[in-house]
Amino acid sequence: MSTDKKIESSQASEQALEHRKFRDDEFWKELPGWASVPHDEFADHKWQNKNAIRKVEQVEKVLGSRVSKETMDDIYAGQKITPMNIRITPYIFALINWDDPLNDPLRKQFLPMGSQFLPDHPYYREDSLSEDVDSPVPMLTHRYPDKVLFLPTTICPVYCSYCTRSRIIGGSTESVEKSSYGASQKKWDDVFEYLKMNPEIEDVVISGGDSFMLTAKQIKYIGENLLMIPNIRRIRYATKGIAIFPMKILTDDDWVQAISEVHKLGRSMNKQVVIHTHFSSPKEITTWSQKAMDRLYSEGIIVRNQAVLQEGVNNTVEDMVLLTRQVSYMNVQPYYVYMHDMVPGCEHFRTTLKEGVELEKAVRGITAGFHTPTFVCDLPGGGGKRHVASYEYYDQENGISVWTAPYVKPGQHFTYFDPIHKLSPEAQKRWSDKGTVETMIKEAVKKAGY
Ligand SMILES: *Cc1c(COP(=O)(O)O)cnc(C)c1O
Ligand code: SF4
Repeated sequence: MSTDKKIESSQASEQALEHRKFRDDEFWKELPGWASVPHDEFADHKWQNKNAIRKVEQVEKVLGSRVSKETMDDIYAGQKITPMNIRITPYIFALINWDDPLNDPLRKQFLPMGSQFLPDHPYYREDSLSEDVDSPVPMLTHRYPDKVLFLPTTICPVYCSYCTRSRIIGGSTESVEKSSYGASQKKWDDVFEYLKMNPEIEDVVISGGDSFMLTAKQIKYIGENLLMIPNIRRIRYATKGIAIFPMKILTDDDWVQAISEVHKLGRSMNKQVVIHTHFSSPKEITTWSQKAMDRLYSEGIIVRNQAVLQEGVNNTVEDMVLLTRQVSYMNVQPYYVYMHDMVPGCEHFRTTLKEGVELEKAVRGITAGFHTPTFVCDLPGGGGKRHVASYEYYDQENGISVWTAPYVKPGQHFTYFDPIHKLSPEAQKRWSDKGTVETMIKEAVKKAGY
């Protein structure tokens, strides 16, 4: 019996090896609009950019008769409600299962449908994490003593329906006015100045927006300037790109070279330069992802993954285990899984805290500890990230958890709320009365010792 045969004969091991299968069929050819796009063209980042879906009319054009009129109407209706514009790479668009778009995890993330929306939670906030409050200079959030969040741009290669910064990212929509900005070197220089003046800062997260939208020159400008600041020891470029647009890593040599040069410069100065990416669902992963990671790994660049826990995207043990194993297999280190932020237009995505705690238990032990993500809740109001099971008190019946952040905001307490539609009918009724809600929260806070 060959080794392959032996593996096939055991169902248990088959499941354990699921994560080594990488999709490599010509999936885009199933869509009428792209049926004749050759492999080389689809594999080119320029083609992907040029053909990105940016309007519902394009959705209709590419899909043709592939979806029903009801589905298209539902997609049009979504555009009236969502706080985010559409932008989807052909790669992701073609990976959507168009036989069942309503339940597809990729469609859910990037192409809202009107029928899925639920009313916002009464305690949602536009700036749920209070990033604007903790911002000493434009484009910078300084919440933790030694690390900062730098947002050099507000544009991305895809727009996620659930973006936590939907208040600024990706331009105005029918339902939201935004003051988005492109790359602006002058403002970046002010950020570098602030970092120099605050020598306790050692760590910079370059997020946004998305680093994929910075040119090779801008990647270098930002990287080199940050590395030259004596107190800066670690920088991370954050991009969803590897997950939703691996072709750029494979064919945009200037961009990869820019990152690689910054990485090498960092190494020569004994400083860390890494990439943080954002795979949410195993359905996003193909042979292209693996090849993109092979290229970055061969350059010596460490990549870590931050996922958001989402209903119907990754909130089953099966999907979370597969996601963890599959990104690990490609040399991406699972770093965080976030509880969903309490931002507008996202109730249908959110899960209960209990689901987060249960998934954390299920995932721990499946693989190397250093490839096991930490499940965190980024506390509304600016308490920062906390381990999901480290709440002070959790009223599961009413979906109210109470937290502290002793180092980041000493003496304060914070609350996080489960989505109301997931609570018992009795609890949902309690949430419909403002006075009852206030009493429930007060009681929870008191039980937590505050
Ligand atoms: C998440 C975050 C960071 C980085 O935190 P890590 O836990 O080190 O990944 C820094 N600043 C802000 C404001 C953040 O939200
Ligand atoms: S890539 Fe990040 S910043 Fe851009 S829309 Fe998605 S979540 Fe928001």
